[in-house]
Amino acid sequence: MSHPSRLAIIGAGPIGLEAALHASRAGMDVTLLERGRVAENVQRWGHVRLFTPFGMNSSELGRSALREQGRNLPDDDALLTGAEFVEHYLQPLSELPELRQGLHEEADVFTIGRSGTWKGDLIGNPQRGNAPFRILVRDAASERMVEADVVFDCTGTFGNHNWLGDGGIPCPGELDYGCDIEHGLPDLAGDARAEYAGRHTLLVGSGYSAATNLVALAGIAAETPETRITWLTRRSGTTPVTLIDDDPLAERKRLTATANDLATRSDGPVDWLPGHSVTALTPADDDDGFEVTVRSLSDGTERTFPVDRIIANVGFRPDRSIYEELQVQECYASQGPMRLAAKLLGETSADCLVQPTPDADLLTNPEPGFYILGSKSYGRNSRFLLQTGLQQIHDVLSLLPSGAATG
Ligand SMILES: Cc1cc2nc3c(=O)[nH]c(=O)nc-3n(C[C@H](O)[C@H](O)[C@H](O)COP(=O)(O)OP(=O)(O)OC[C@H]3O[C@@H](n4cnc5c(N)ncnc54)[C@H](O)[C@@H]3O)c2cc1C
Repeated sequence: MSHPSRLAIIGAGPIGLEAALHASRAGMDVTLLERGRVAENVQRWGHVRLFTPFGMNSSELGRSALREQGRNLPDDDALLTGAEFVEHYLQPLSELPELRQGLHEEADVFTIGRSGTWKGDLIGNPQRGNAPFRILVRDAASERMVEADVVFDCTGTFGNHNWLGDGGIPCPGELDYGCDIEHGLPDLAGDARAEYAGRHTLLVGSGYSAATNLVALAGIAAETPETRITWLTRRSGTTPVTLIDDDPLAERKRLTATANDLATRSDGPVDWLPGHSVTALTPADDDDGFEVTVRSLSDGTERTFPVDRIIANVGFRPDRSIYEELQVQECYASQGPMRLAAKLLGETSADCLVQPTPDADLLTNPEPGFYILGSKSYGRNSRFLLQTGLQQIHDVLSLLPSGAATG
């Protein structure tokens, strides 16, 4: 492959933007395709505070490039909200001259193939790499084809939610009425407050998103006492969220402790329903809310009760449709690319700061020149951290013909 290689990066989230900067500094010809706005997914949870500090979430190269432009940056130990991270770092990154030129917003990648080479051709053969990638991009008005020699899929998983129903499949009613279920992090202290105040919400899930929503809903209940929350978790230990011993991330520790305390005290607005799953939902008679049926995972007993709102923080999954014509080997459990997934399956710590040793080979898969980076590289595994993605960029660039790793 002659240099500079044409690199297409799909997704201008934190990892796509950083990858674009690092690759263009390494001399690659970069096109960055983003279906929405810059950092679209982070903007959707902009009111939430990150629990890792700014210095862990940004690269040395990114910070120095912005300082060269005269930008003031947050302190390395600052805990920013998603919106502040976008405003003070990600948006300015996207405006750097080397990114601006190749960045296309509102450019939705539909799917990727290889010119003259079908999925079943040259199985696992490096010669597939001689055929350029063909990327079908759609915007509001048109469709076009982008060609590239190397592709980084940095499209994340946020927005592609798992199902609420028992066993991870939709429960009866979920397909028809699921559009009224919230899967993300509504701004419960802001725009979304009125929708939940004085209502009964069913909150499902036991991760940090559920904990964040629970604490915010309890905040509403403190001001509007009729507000009630039923917190349903599959987990049936002594607390809903796993507390990490000696957690070094103070914000995560505080969130976990507050949510667990709210769930386990008897005098608050929260009714914790451990060891249950959702088996059916139907719309309420007045069309505002649901009748929900839940089942005990230990003895199989079922009960049905009305709720006004449902927030299902049941995780996200990768959208694999964009690479389904390529030769990508996936993990049967996490749907992440196989080599990295196999390594991650061996990690049992509850702390996502504990990560496998970086290894560039883990990012390769049978399709030459195609790499899945960022949160999508973890598939359904929710332990991804931005600092892992920053390391991946360094690793993947060291694999490319230029040996183009940057600092
Ligand atoms: C609420 C929340 C808090 C988090 N807090 C932390 C934290 O404190 N520390 C930490 O390290 N990590 C945290 N994470 C995890 C992770 O770091 C973030 O999810 C981060 O945004 C992942 O970055 P990414 O670039 O991989 O993906 P994303 O930010 O999801 O970006 C993917 C981009 O791809 C675009 N896209 C998707 N499909 C297409 C397509 N077909 N064509 C074109 N573009 C497409 C999307 O619009 C989006 O802009 C948090 C996650 C969440 C949800």
